[in-house]
Amino acid sequence: MSRQFDIVVVGAGASGLMAGIHAARAGAHVLILEHMDKAAKKILVTGNGKCNFTNEKQGIAYYHGKNPAFVLPALRQFDVKETLRFFEELGVYPKKKWEAYYYPASGQASSVAQSLLLECKRLNVRIACNIGIREIKKTAKGFSFHTKQGEFFSNCCIIATGGKAAKKTGSDGSGFLYIEKLGHKLTDIVPALVQLQGKQSFLKEIAGIRADGKVSIYIEKEKIAEDTGELQLTEFGISGIPVFQVSRYASFALSEGKQVFAMLDFLPQLTEEETRDLLRKRFLCFAEGKNAAQALLGLFPDKLNAVLLNEAQIPIRKPAGECSTEELSLLAGKAKALCIDVTGTKGFDNAQVSAGGVDTSEVNPMTMESRLVPGLYFAGEVLDIDGMCGGYNLQWAWSSGFVAGTEAASCCMAGNTQCM
Ligand SMILES: Cc1cc2nc3c(=O)[nH]c(=O)nc-3n(C[C@H](O)[C@H](O)[C@H](O)COP(=O)(O)OP(=O)(O)OC[C@H]3O[C@@H](n4cnc5c(N)ncnc54)[C@H](O)[C@@H]3O)c2cc1C
Repeated sequence: MSRQFDIVVVGAGASGLMAGIHAARAGAHVLILEHMDKAAKKILVTGNGKCNFTNEKQGIAYYHGKNPAFVLPALRQFDVKETLRFFEELGVYPKKKWEAYYYPASGQASSVAQSLLLECKRLNVRIACNIGIREIKKTAKGFSFHTKQGEFFSNCCIIATGGKAAKKTGSDGSGFLYIEKLGHKLTDIVPALVQLQGKQSFLKEIAGIRADGKVSIYIEKEKIAEDTGELQLTEFGISGIPVFQVSRYASFALSEGKQVFAMLDFLPQLTEEETRDLLRKRFLCFAEGKNAAQALLGLFPDKLNAVLLNEAQIPIRKPAGECSTEELSLLAGKAKALCIDVTGTKGFDNAQVSAGGVDTSEVNPMTMESRLVPGLYFAGEVLDIDGMCGGYNLQWAWSSGFVAGTEAASCCMAGNTQCM
C-alpha cells in the first residue's frame, strides 16, 4: 500500500470519520489510523445503543470549556440542518424525540457507524486498524507516523483521538501524548457527564429510587450549577441526566481538592413556604390515624420517606398529628435540600465524555488548524470542549470534523506550502 497521503487522520471515531469523509469529498487522498481492532466503537454505545446524534436546540449555552465560543464558527459552518442532510444522504433518516433530540429512525447506533464506514469505503478513505502509533513527527514536508505497521507520511495531519472517557471504546488518552510532543498545551482533563459518589450512609437505604427533582452543586458553599429532571439514587451516590449535566463542575472542583455538596430538591415546583404548608396540611389536617411515614405516603417513594423523616429526626411511627411545626419545618427543609457530600465521580470509565483537552487558544476556530504547527488540525472531544447530554457531543464531533477535513483538504489541494 502507498505510504504517502495528503491527509492522515488519527482516530476513527465520530469526528475522525467525519473529517476523513469531507477531506476525501474535497479530493484529498486520506488514511485514517485507528489503534483499536475496529473503527467507530464509541458510536455504537451512544444513546444507550440508539445514538442521540444531534439536537435541534443549539447555542453556546450547551457547550463548555475555557472558551465555549470556540464552537460557534464550526457550528455555523456545519449546523444541525447540515448534519441531518448529511445523514439523510447516507440513508440515515432522523427520528425526533422530546421535541428536539434526533436519533436514527432505525433506533440503532450501528446504522450511524455503518453508514459512515460505507461512505469512507465509497470514497476510498483507507482505515488502518490495530495501528500502534509510536511517534508522530513534524517534518519539513509535512508529518511522519512511526507505527507497528511501518512508516506513513502526509502533508496534513488531523488528530481526532477523543478524550479519556470510556476507554474500552478506544479513547484512552494516548492521543494527548502526541499532541504535547507536537508542542500544544492541554487544559486539565476530568470525567464529565458522570455519576457522583456521596458519603452519606442513607444512600444504601434509598438505592434504586428514581424521583423527579432538582440537583444543585455547591462548591465551597457557593451554588455553581443546577439541573432538573429524573434523579436516580444509587448505593454509591447520585445519577441520572440532571446529575450528568452538573457533574463537570463537581469533577473540576474535586480535582482541585475543593469541598463539593449536592443538594437534592424533591419538590422543585414548590417554595419552602409552600412545602411547609403542604406538610402541615398532610400531617395536621388529613392524617387522622396515620403515622409520620403514612402521612407522606404518595408524595415521595416509600424508601425516601423513611430517609427524609430520619434526617428530620422524626420517628416514622410517630402519630402524624403529634408532629410539631418545628419538626415539619425541618422535614420541609430536608425535602427541599437533602445534602450529599460529594466525595468523587465514577471516573473516566463510567463517564460519557471528558472535559478539558487541547487548549483552544492555540487552535484557529475557523479552520481547526493549530496556531503553532502548520498543517496540524484537531477535531472532536480531544479539544477543550464538552457538550451537555442530549446530542451535543456528537454534534461537536460532526461540525469540528467537517471543518478540519474540509480545511485540511483545501490546504493540500491548494498546494499551500504552509502545510506541505
Ligand atoms: C456511553 C456513552 C454514551 C454516549 N451517548 C452520546 C449520545 O447519545 N449523544 C452524544 O452526542 N454523545 C454521546 N456520547 C459522547 C460521544 O460519543 C463522544 O463525545 C464522541 O464520540 C466523541 O467523538 P470523537 O471522534 O472526538 O472521539 P471518539 O469517538 O472517542 O473517537 C476517538 C477514536 O480515536 C481512537 N484513538 C484514540 N487514541 C488513539 C491513538 N493513540 N492512536 C490511534 N487511534 C486512537 C479511538 O480508538 C477512537 O476510535 C456518549 C459517550 C459514551 C461513552
